[in-house]
Amino acid sequence: MKITKQDLEKIGRFTKKEMSPDELYVFSLILCDNDIDRDGEKFTADSLEKLASLIIGKTGIFDHNMSSKDQIARIFDAKVTRAENRLTADGETYVFLSAKAYMLKNEKNRDLISEIEAGIKKETSVGCSVKSIKCSVCGRDIRSGACAHKKGEIYDGKKCCHLLCDPEDAYEWSFVAVPAQRNAGIVKAFTPAAAADRELEEYRAELKSGVISNAASLIPQTGRELINKICDSLHLAELRELRNSLKKDAERNSPLCIQLASPEKAEKETNSEYII
Ligand SMILES: [Zn+2]
Repeated sequence: MKITKQDLEKIGRFTKKEMSPDELYVFSLILCDNDIDRDGEKFTADSLEKLASLIIGKTGIFDHNMSSKDQIARIFDAKVTRAENRLTADGETYVFLSAKAYMLKNEKNRDLISEIEAGIKKETSVGCSVKSIKCSVCGRDIRSGACAHKKGEIYDGKKCCHLLCDPEDAYEWSFVAVPAQRNAGIVKAFTPAAAADRELEEYRAELKSGVISNAASLIPQTGRELINKICDSLHLAELRELRNSLKKDAERNSPLCIQLASPEKAEKETNSEYII
């Protein structure tokens, strides 16, 4: 991708020294869209606009591998695009958030850059927090408990979903490697729904196993099947809250665990965090 003068100016806000185009590698990627994912949730078009401003300056990681600290790219530009000829599952004009990122063109990044160019690294995810999650039918915040609608069910001909509204922060974005043959190119080949679904599925499974293992030690009389059912009925944010509180209780009950536990990444206590 050719680096324009405007690109260089925007990148300059994040680099300590002025960079020449030869030192940089710039690529485009799509981060998320307004279609309903398998968890029955979607960003609104307004949320995407907000995310576009929040994501600028954020660094991305590859394959969720936090240890490869040198392999990072930073988003320096982002925009929301309307695809007038495409509709979402709930009949809205398809809107997506795309970004431009740069990384250093050095020896360490050489393989990664070739992979990006070959279309191997293409699926992305964004970690962000939202202020509210609203029911698409009645507009109530689903965390208020006042909404009786069910995700995925049809009301007046429209499928109910949860709207991720008012993003407050975007933490990071990441690139997930997939085989090159499946699709080619970064922007063109992007399948946001599939990427987001997998992320969410993995995240849900991780939270669930955390709940199950802590519940086994804290409330051993409660059957695993019941715990499973409870987990499945919870919203992702609620499941996360339950996992966190059980984990804290378990640590309190077991001083040895505290001693052995490695310092964990600080997690916000608000139940509004999402990995999308
Ligand atoms: Zn509702």
